[in-house]
Amino acid sequence: MIPISFEFYPPKNDEQRAQLGRTATRLKAWSPEYVSCTFGAGGSTLSYTGDTVRALIDDHGLAAAPHLSCVGGTREEIAALLQRYRAQGCGRIVALRGDLPSGMGHPGEFRHAADLVAFIRAEHGDCFHIEVACYPETHPQAEDALADLRHFKAKVDAGADGAITQYFYNADAYFRFVDEARALGVEVPIVPGIMPISNFSQLKRFSDACGAEIPRWLRKRMAAYGDDADSVRELAADFVAGLCRRLVEGGAPGLHFYTLNLARPTAAVLERLG
Ligand code: FAD
Repeated sequence: MIPISFEFYPPKNDEQRAQLGRTATRLKAWSPEYVSCTFGAGGSTLSYTGDTVRALIDDHGLAAAPHLSCVGGTREEIAALLQRYRAQGCGRIVALRGDLPSGMGHPGEFRHAADLVAFIRAEHGDCFHIEVACYPETHPQAEDALADLRHFKAKVDAGADGAITQYFYNADAYFRFVDEARALGVEVPIVPGIMPISNFSQLKRFSDACGAEIPRWLRKRMAAYGDDADSVRELAADFVAGLCRRLVEGGAPGLHFYTLNLARPTAAVLERLG
C-alpha cells in the first residue's frame, strides 16, 4: 500500500476533542505516514493547531504536521509558531497562504504561500519537510490555469518538498495537472487530497466555494436517494474508493484524506481498498 495521511481540524471543546480522539484511534489502524491539523487563518485560533498536534503526538504516538497559513499574520507571530512546532518535535509543516475571513482587516506581511515557504527555509534550513497546496481544477482566485501552475512551481522553487492537492472527483484533472507540472520541471511528489463523502449538502457548499467539480451523475443519484442514508453512504464509499484505485493505478505517490474528524467515511473507503 502507498503512504497515506489523514487531515484533522482542531477541536474547540471537550466533545469535539473526544470525537477526534476516537477518530484518531480508529484510523491509526491504517498506519498513516503522518496526520495533519488545519489552521484557522486570521489569528483567532492560533493556539488550537499546536495544542491538537501535541495531543496527536503525545496521546496517539502519531507523526503530526501542523498547517500554517500566513495570511493575516505578522512575521513575529509566524516565527514564534515555527519555534513552537520545532520544539514540539514536528518534522513536517503544511505551508499555506490561507483565506482571510471576510471583514478581517490586514492581509499581513506574506502575500503568497511561496513567501512563507521561503521564510521557513531561511529561518530553519532543512528542519522541516514542507508540503504545499496545489489545485488540479485550478484555484478559484487564479488568473488562469497556467498562471496557477506557475505559482505552484514558485512554491516548489522556494523550497517545498511535496504537495497535497485540493480534493477533486475527476482523476483526469489530476493526471493532466501532474503531467503539466512535470513538464514545467516540478519533480516533488504530488499527493491527491481525497474527500470522502459524509454529508452531501455540506459537500456541495464546500465544493462551490473551493472550485471542486462534483460529477452531475453523482449529484443526481444522491438527490434521488434523498434521506436513504444507507444508499448514500454505500454509493459515496464505492465512488471514492473507485477514484482512489484509479489514482493509485495511475501512479499517485500517496493519498491524503480530508477526514473532517470523522472516522467512518474514510474507513469505509479504506476498507474497500483492502
Ligand atoms: P497560494 O499558493 O499563495 O495561492 C493563492 C492564489 O494566489 C492562487 O490563485 C495562486 O494562483 C495565486 N498566486 C500565488 N502566487 C502568486 C503571485 N506571485 N502572483 C499572483 N498570484 C499568485 N486553508 C486554511 O485556512 N487553513 C488550512 O489549514 C488549510 N489547509 C489546506 C490544505 C490543503 C492540502 C489545501 C489544498 C488547502 C488548504 N487550505 C487551508 C485552503 C487554502 O488556504 C486556500 O485554498 C487558499 O485560498 C490558498 O492557499 P495557498 O497556500 O494555495 O495559496
